[in-house]
Amino acid sequence: MDFRQTIITFLGLQDVKIIDLKVFKKLHKIEVKVQQNRESCFCRLCGEQFSTVKEWDLKILRAPPLGVFQHVTVKFMQLRGYCDNCDRTAVADVDWIHPKFSSMTCGLAEVAGRLMEEITCEAVGRILDMGSKAMWDLDQYRMAVMMQHLRMPDGLDVSYLAADEVHFRTIAVKKPSRTFCETLASRICHKSCRAKGRESPI
Ligand SMILES: [Zn+2]
Repeated sequence: MDFRQTIITFLGLQDVKIIDLKVFKKLHKIEVKVQQNRESCFCRLCGEQFSTVKEWDLKILRAPPLGVFQHVTVKFMQLRGYCDNCDRTAVADVDWIHPKFSSMTCGLAEVAGRLMEEITCEAVGRILDMGSKAMWDLDQYRMAVMMQHLRMPDGLDVSYLAADEVHFRTIAVKKPSRTFCETLASRICHKSCRAKGRESPI
């Protein structure tokens, strides 16, 4: 079995080969360096293969978790070639980079998006070691795309379900003033701490 190809499949990458792999065990991080397969690179205008390689552009991307390693970075060498047909230089097309969030692979966006259907953007950001704002933006994008194909029942108000938005905007919650009940409970607790047989306050 070709384990390099297996890792590529697990990460949701296509038409690349692994040229380096670094594992940072204590940090739970993996860094995979991949290069586009030249035979899979085509000009997006005419569909022909590039006649010559001009250079390899380096892109840093985040990929979905791999086993116990939550933080997976892909160093992607993307081919920039010359097309004889079109007489121009261009980068080769890639299907697995997210069209809107260009620092994420589609695989990561899908994993994060599915998690955000169940838990908050903040929680997903912590799990995947990513910024909660980026997660929130991704969630909003996915919802906008999905709403093009879905229709809510007439008269159903779902505004109160926007818990992620509320959660995101209320991280620094103002401490409420003490209520009468809390003050009373505090005094009762203070007295019980001094009850006979108790040597020191709890
Ligand atoms: Zn071309």
